[in-house]
Amino acid sequence: MDLGGKSALVTGAARGIGRAIALELARAGADVAVADIARPSDGTTPYALSTSDALAETAGLIGRAGRRSVAIPADVTSADDVGRMVAEVQTRFGGLDVLVANAGIVASAPIVSMDEALWDRLFAVNVKGVFLCARAAVPLLVARGGGRIVNIASVAGKTGRAGMVAYCATKAAVISMTQGMAEELGPMNITVNAICPGFINTAMFTEVISPMLGALWNTTPDDAFDRFIRQSTYLRRDQRPEDIAEAAVYLCRADNVTGITLTVAGGAEVH
Ligand code: NAD
Repeated sequence: MDLGGKSALVTGAARGIGRAIALELARAGADVAVADIARPSDGTTPYALSTSDALAETAGLIGRAGRRSVAIPADVTSADDVGRMVAEVQTRFGGLDVLVANAGIVASAPIVSMDEALWDRLFAVNVKGVFLCARAAVPLLVARGGGRIVNIASVAGKTGRAGMVAYCATKAAVISMTQGMAEELGPMNITVNAICPGFINTAMFTEVISPMLGALWNTTPDDAFDRFIRQSTYLRRDQRPEDIAEAAVYLCRADNVTGITLTVAGGAEVH
């Protein structure tokens, strides 16, 4: 699919991987609606989420890349918000060709001390959010004669890890949902694929995973991140948001790739 003149929607696009994907889609010629919860606290996630200023900044960067954008504050766990988000894309762009379900949160705790509300929030954002976005977007993709859905899963969805049980389970669910939706939506000319990013030094690592590893290994979060990367990847380096964005654009262009999980992890998780 040539992305020139197409309409795309990226969730969790105020920063990090979502922002990089939105920008790369714009560089490939698409108009890109960017959505995010756009408030620092959801009441449960134990680190700061993005702001409306950051979301507006992403939209501004797309404008400077020469494509149309609209910034839509929307919590992907709310069916009302997701319905409003997709309706706004329809109004502003006249349709939708690409959905990238990227919004996600992370948490770390041993299973015996995992907070129940945090467990529920992880599943609400990472799993129910993907479902609600697909449910709302598919009628628009069908109206265009087909389209693309790219779900952002994780290498964490391929192998469960100590201290990360809930997060890993949510990402395994995203991989399974991707496979099921690919079979279900294939006859409508919609491809559905997942990306499994490896280790990108966004808020997920700086605020949660690196401090957890630092405490475990009795070192600083930065040192723990470096050690973790060296021991986990064949290439001995972390990945960049732009690496994931390139993979997303590839999956949007590909006409005959569906139901896969594309791992971008420098050699971690080679299956
Ligand atoms: P990030 O925290 O920088 O970005 C996540 C974005 O999602 C934030 O802007 C946040 O405000 C938004 N968000 C959170 N809850 C939301 C909600 N309910 N509704 C709408 N938006 C919401 O993290 P990131 O690393 O850019 O993560 C993006 C995706 O990549 C996530 O799905 C994450 O699980 C996945 N991922 C990240 C890594 C990594 O190493 N950073 C690895 C594998 C997978």
